[in-house]
Amino acid sequence: MRFVRALTTCALPVSRRGVISSTHFPRTCSFLKPYIAKALHCTISVTIMATEDSLRKSLSQKQSNIDLQGNAVRQLKSSGASKPEIEAAVKALNDLKLEKASIESQLQAALSGSGSSSGNRDAFRQAVVNTLERRLFFIPSFKIYRGVAGLYDYGPPGCSVKSNVLAFWRQHFVLEENMLEVDCPCVTPEVVLKASGHVEKFTDLMVKDEKTGTCYRADHLLKDYCKEKLEKDFSLSAEKAAELKHVLAVLDDLSSEQLGAKIKEYGITAPDTKNPLSDPYPFNLMFQTSIGPSGVSPGYMRPETAQGIFVNFKDLYYYNGNKLPFAAAQIGQAFRNEISPRQGLLRVREFTLAEIEHFVDPQDKSHPKFSDVAKLEFLMFPRDEQVSGQSAKKLQLGEAVSRGTVNNETLGYFIGRVYLFLTQLGIDKDRLRFRQHLANEMAHYAADCWDAEIESSYGWIECVGIADRSAYDLRAHSEKSSVALVAQEKFSEPREVEKLVITPIKKELGLAFKGNQRMVTEALEAMEEKVAMEMKADLESKGEVEFHVCTLGKNVTIKKSMVSISKEIKKEHQRVFTPSVIEPSFGIGRIIYCLYEHSFYTRPSKAGDEQQNVFRFPPLVAPIKCTVFPLVQNQQYEEVAKLISKSLTAAGISHKIDITGTSIGKRYARTDELGVPFAITVDSTSSVTVRERDSKDQVRVDVDKVASVVREVTDGLSSWADVLKMYPLHSSGTAEE
Ligand code: AMP
Repeated sequence: MRFVRALTTCALPVSRRGVISSTHFPRTCSFLKPYIAKALHCTISVTIMATEDSLRKSLSQKQSNIDLQGNAVRQLKSSGASKPEIEAAVKALNDLKLEKASIESQLQAALSGSGSSSGNRDAFRQAVVNTLERRLFFIPSFKIYRGVAGLYDYGPPGCSVKSNVLAFWRQHFVLEENMLEVDCPCVTPEVVLKASGHVEKFTDLMVKDEKTGTCYRADHLLKDYCKEKLEKDFSLSAEKAAELKHVLAVLDDLSSEQLGAKIKEYGITAPDTKNPLSDPYPFNLMFQTSIGPSGVSPGYMRPETAQGIFVNFKDLYYYNGNKLPFAAAQIGQAFRNEISPRQGLLRVREFTLAEIEHFVDPQDKSHPKFSDVAKLEFLMFPRDEQVSGQSAKKLQLGEAVSRGTVNNETLGYFIGRVYLFLTQLGIDKDRLRFRQHLANEMAHYAADCWDAEIESSYGWIECVGIADRSAYDLRAHSEKSSVALVAQEKFSEPREVEKLVITPIKKELGLAFKGNQRMVTEALEAMEEKVAMEMKADLESKGEVEFHVCTLGKNVTIKKSMVSISKEIKKEHQRVFTPSVIEPSFGIGRIIYCLYEHSFYTRPSKAGDEQQNVFRFPPLVAPIKCTVFPLVQNQQYEEVAKLISKSLTAAGISHKIDITGTSIGKRYARTDELGVPFAITVDSTSSVTVRERDSKDQVRVDVDKVASVVREVTDGLSSWADVLKMYPLHSSGTAEE
């Protein structure tokens, strides 16, 4: 979902940017200490907040006691008090300082317990990113020319992971819901993005270093300031800490003026030079181009794939037999000229989006398969809880919808399906939450929006936006293209309906507005029922009314003689309406990066002298499902390995043979680091050992059965536990050595 802030009726929406919120979920170190941090239940979060609060209070109390005691010592000295008296006072002062130091270290511990310890997070991230780069999961683009910020290549294992994620996405969404998949161009003519509002409002707020002109994202600077203060400034009072946390919680809700005011209030300067900063101003994130050689046909690289679906609505609706609901889907590249991309793979300038536009009758947003997901329970973060400083809580999806926390069943259905998609990929369910947009974060036309946020070493990252965008997009394109993007409901019996009839009196309007008559007429005709009825009442009581015409960008005075507004009973055989759209929008690169972090761990080598890296990818996403190793370099074993490779290929299992003479332990370590879940070691000509990556358990399987066993587990038809029950354990451990 792209647009945020609440605006007046006909104003265009403004940009809605990816959220990296800073409220960290509490974590405890798991067996991978200190690297892999696991989220705890939210009650612990409350306890940690309470501890942090009371520690900050005792710290400031201690500091005032130290100040008082310091004064007392000075007074004793200046009044010539006795030596023992002064010594006793100095000792009391030193004791107080020791107590303060002890509280400081408790606070430090509480902060790292709540996931705020940046040291651990940075070290963990560095270990993951080093492994990813070394094993070519990704490569900074144009590296030999020193790269370009925000552009990355996927190397061979990265490409495999991505294509596995996309294949699962197609299976989980497109196939399951019979969605209509389309593939539209990245280069988009200006008119399309003018209609959608992107040309005018797809912006982020930017500030400039007033001396060097270096640009920064305004909200990022404010966020960094608050986080750093909270993590490192122990003299911060509990009240100030609460204020900074509140700023972080409502960051996405702040207007340009509010952001600018906070930056001034906190004295935030340019991070690199400490120079003063300009006021925030909007920067459009689209890459502009021109279509064709003449330069007269402006275009943009699309910032999202959704518009391609909206402009095809009419044909897709027809293809679907003129029936609602239906969904269309698209996977493709999106381009955003991010102001200062930091956060590695998370904020890039070109990325893959997978988007769904589910078109539904606005009068019936129920979903026939909602009961399939209604019992799911996971972390949800409704807007009231965010504003009041609480943390995300486990809610049952069915209850969240029936209580109205989630606006409707279809939106709820997609939230549930997104939860299943992400957790089946291997995202840790305790580090995944669904956060509702704050009131101002959401566009005025949107009915409700939730982001699937995943916790990573960078904090909580928006990875999927799930929004009920009402009829905004189709209406906008209908208006601009003059092609009706509507659906019909045919009635079995004609129905009498009360209809709003707005009749602009063209002669009067022409006299009053001359060249602007068409714009005023169109604005009058486009009035929604509530606005029209209010105008009617005002015209009757006052004779004239001020009316904002957004295409003119100003108010005009409408007199009673210029328009007739009434409600009439009419017989209708069908209802024609603009469908609402529910849009789940997946940032594939972000999901994959979070998956890397959630899957990464280290374990000591067999000799215990080094740490080995492992990605515990589920077979579904693993870049290679299986490796085949002849135990020693010998022709017989190599023949068997080739035979197994052939049967794995026939079974559709991606695999790799390693016939290097390297020790088997080293070969295992190499493939563990790529996240390969199974390894087949050829150590005889009749049977082989199959080793599972995480448990390192090995079983013996006959050569002619091994491909089908591996296929069963990689396809999820059986689990490794089932395999352990069916095949004898290989306990000698020779292969591992
Ligand atoms: P939005 O339309 O802004 O809600 O974005 C849709 C999805 O695209 C988000 O949920 C993110 O996962 C992803 N996304 C947005 N901006 C970026 C970016 N600069 N780099 C990578 N992914 C992004």
